[in-house]
Amino acid sequence: MAAMELLRNGGSALDAVELACRITEDDPEDHSVGYSGLPNLLGQVELDASIMDGRTLRTGAVASIHNYGNPITIARRVMEELPHVLLVGAGAERFAAEIGQQPADQRTAEALAKWRERFAESGLDPNALGDNLRAVAHVVTRPVNLKDKPVIEPPLHGKPETLGTVNFLAIDQRGDIASGVSTSGIAWKYPGRVGDSPIVGAGNYSDNRYGAAACTGMGELAIRVSTARSLVLYMKMGMSLHEAGMEALRDLSVLEMVEGRYMNIVALTPDGQHQGFTTVAGRKYLHMHAAMREPELLDRTCLEE
Ligand code: ASP
Repeated sequence: MAAMELLRNGGSALDAVELACRITEDDPEDHSVGYSGLPNLLGQVELDASIMDGRTLRTGAVASIHNYGNPITIARRVMEELPHVLLVGAGAERFAAEIGQQPADQRTAEALAKWRERFAESGLDPNALGDNLRAVAHVVTRPVNLKDKPVIEPPLHGKPETLGTVNFLAIDQRGDIASGVSTSGIAWKYPGRVGDSPIVGAGNYSDNRYGAAACTGMGELAIRVSTARSLVLYMKMGMSLHEAGMEALRDLSVLEMVEGRYMNIVALTPDGQHQGFTTVAGRKYLHMHAAMREPELLDRTCLEE
């Protein structure tokens, strides 16, 4: 709602998506994004985020950042202050300190309890994993129960079991498009694993001329077929929003889909058409425009439909 208010008051799409991501990142109830995100195999919270300005095609991203909150803001500063687009790990943390962010433990007791529970379910001791993390990764990195939370406003709060990523796509009064994506990644991931969210072209893409797209789900899938950029490119090549989304789903459909691992996409056109797509039936997304008091929850289109 705050992001929509900003847009109503003439604010930029870039500011709106950053604000919307920040609100979600700061929410301790949300265990898939920012503070209180579910940790990696070692119990560390590693955050990823990206932001893209559809007017200039400038973009910034951070990945595997520890001990700093609001990765979307760090990503935006990368875009604005460095001749680079992506910083990872220690370099991203160094940059966060340089721009004045205060280090802060992103773990919460609740998220760590879930991490311990996950190991207990697998009959493993998280404090005695030894050197063979790759074997453990296959045991505990089960497909996650993602709950969709895209477009314009942090929705579905107060649902502690929700896992996922936030995608925000916005158009402002000048017609500029921006997209922001933020996540703590797949729960119990191998340390250093980076998903699609900070990979511009995979999990996030915006271009004022053709539209924007962003993804949630098993990031490895979107990376392998460059989902967000592909969808926008299909629109550039003349497909409608619907056709472009279906083509992006067909790209994903050639990948082996382990049960529970799937990909969701939200997409937007420069004239404000929007649609959600998914590789599994029953997923939803949220949409809101300036004349609406509340966001509306809409069905995503699945390939079989
Ligand atoms: N796409 C994110 C990733 O792979 C995870 C998610 O959407 O839940 O890191």
